[in-house]
Amino acid sequence: MTKPDIRDFARQELAGAMISLGEKGSKADRIFNCLYKKGAESFDAMAGVPDELKNKLSARYSISQTPAPERRVSKIDKTVKLLFRFHDGAVAESVVLFNKETISACISSQSGCACGCRFCATGGLGLKRDLKPSEILTQFAACGREAGGAPDSVVFMGMGEPFLNWANVKKSVLILSDNKGHNFPQSKITISTVGVIPVIRELAESHLGIKLAISIITASEKQRAELTPMESKYPLTDIISAARHYCAKTGKSVFFEYIFFDGLNDSPQDAQKLLELIKGVNCKLNLIMYNQNPGGGDLRPGSMEKAKEFQKITVAAGVRTHLRREKGSDIAAACGQLASGPEAS
Ligand code: SF4
Repeated sequence: MTKPDIRDFARQELAGAMISLGEKGSKADRIFNCLYKKGAESFDAMAGVPDELKNKLSARYSISQTPAPERRVSKIDKTVKLLFRFHDGAVAESVVLFNKETISACISSQSGCACGCRFCATGGLGLKRDLKPSEILTQFAACGREAGGAPDSVVFMGMGEPFLNWANVKKSVLILSDNKGHNFPQSKITISTVGVIPVIRELAESHLGIKLAISIITASEKQRAELTPMESKYPLTDIISAARHYCAKTGKSVFFEYIFFDGLNDSPQDAQKLLELIKGVNCKLNLIMYNQNPGGGDLRPGSMEKAKEFQKITVAAGVRTHLRREKGSDIAAACGQLASGPEAS
């Protein structure tokens, strides 16, 4: 039987595991320190942990080794894409984005995705499986090596729908932000969802300090239903209600991500429709160009000129709006392009 990876435990759980081994719960602090501050990759390498405890740990748990990721570097903007192959053949990709003054790590929560959004290459893969916290943390550590230290921000916008693997994503957030772990601020972690309402509502009641981004995609339910099967489960108007509730309960704002498709949702009338939809929600708007992928059929990217016009309208209405410049498109690392395809290997 495969032994559980010790890096799949949040510190509180690990403290419980220590007690079940006849040890003090506080030993979990030392183990966390070894794993995340010192980067120990084996029980033997855990400095300051008595041999007897190391033996007990290695009898019950593992520290899995993931081969070094395959790496591609964009010739356009230095974006780095990392392809991880896990022990069972499941793959996931991460992207390191070098902005003017900051570095972001975009990481995956699942291998593939079950949501089937038409505009997304990952959706075309289907779901292989959920990633475990240890596999999410492996991506964070590798992105940190690329960045020359911890990245300035982490976004769960890689492969997968994070809220459909929420237990593991939440645990990875707890480990990342634990002051005995990576001590990475929750306020610098953004989780992007296509609109899984029960988890948005759970977040509204939680004390997690992460940021929430919701991919509304477009402002019409009919159009959205043609772009993602998720619309039938979580309709746009219900998602906006959940976002409103989240903002009211947490006092925080939410990011709405709107994807630009040529001739579909890029007109001034579409901007007005969007403003009507999000009226009164404490939000910031991210306008994202559709990146063409083979599964997208007749979908085409909108033009930058139209996007700028659109942005002017939303800004004039008082909505903080960011028009995102896509990065890493030459290595299929831009939004919606992660598909572990041949260009990644
Ligand atoms: S956009 Fe997100 S939720 Fe939709 S298929 Fe792609 S990864 Fe999944």
